[in-house]
Amino acid sequence: MTDLRLADLPSQNQALQGRVILITGASSGIGRAAALACAEQGATVILVGRDIKKLESVYDAIEAAKAPQPAIFELNLKTANEQHYSALAKVISEEFGQLDGLLHNAAELGQLCPLEQISPAVWQEVIQVNLSGPFLLTRALLPLLRKSSSGRILFTSSSVGRKGRAFWGVYAVSKAGIENLTQTLADELEGSAVKVNSLNPGATRTAMRAAAYPAEDPTTVKSAETIAPVYTYLLSEECPWHGQQLSLLV
Ligand code: NDP
Repeated sequence: MTDLRLADLPSQNQALQGRVILITGASSGIGRAAALACAEQGATVILVGRDIKKLESVYDAIEAAKAPQPAIFELNLKTANEQHYSALAKVISEEFGQLDGLLHNAAELGQLCPLEQISPAVWQEVIQVNLSGPFLLTRALLPLLRKSSSGRILFTSSSVGRKGRAFWGVYAVSKAGIENLTQTLADELEGSAVKVNSLNPGATRTAMRAAAYPAEDPTTVKSAETIAPVYTYLLSEECPWHGQQLSLLV
């Protein structure tokens, strides 16, 4: 495991210029902040999500910042199948001809309760969105990422993905799967130009955090904008790590 501190990150100035980066769950929370930050660092960002209106609001914010024009691709990880992922890869190949970064950020919390009370339908949905979706997306996009001189794949984990905890249920199990997916893929890509890591962003003020900790005062938790620089760094060619379980400490 490797700990990262925001204060230790190198300062960045147009660090993602010329890069094309896809972000899932770019519509809100950490994904939205990461998308804006990547665009401000010069990347062309492909905003992926299930809610077009929210994605359009991120698009408008990027345009207002005079950053490179982004693209929107509607994709619901709950219902998407192999054809949808292939179609996305085809569009990226035809429209951009390259892909340099892939941030797997979208996730659902599911039910926080004892395992025996989790409904099978919720179990399947969370595994689909949090684990099978990232696998299928990676599978479809790897050929493009391999063509990049410095492809970066960043999976999003959580403390409960590294050590199970009572009542975190299928969310924890899905994140543990993400850790293994990261390690397996990193091992297979050893020696290639594609670097693969997982990041636990730590407690961050978003809708998911509020749902998990309803009694918490949100102002005591860091904002998604505060942590965005760790994403721009890990998606840049400067990112030195491969196959690492990274944790953001503030
Ligand atoms: P949010 O709930 O704020 O955002 C989740 C994002 O995922 C949203 O953009 C949401 O879309 C999208 N999403 C959810 N389901 C689907 C779906 N079926 N198809 C497509 N997109 C979907 O969560 P956070 O920003 O907090 O979480 C971002 C990542 O960070 C997650 O992987 C989470 O597990 C991880 N994380 C967060 C922590 C925290 O404290 N916030 C701590 C540790 C890890 P929509 O806008 O339409 O709802």
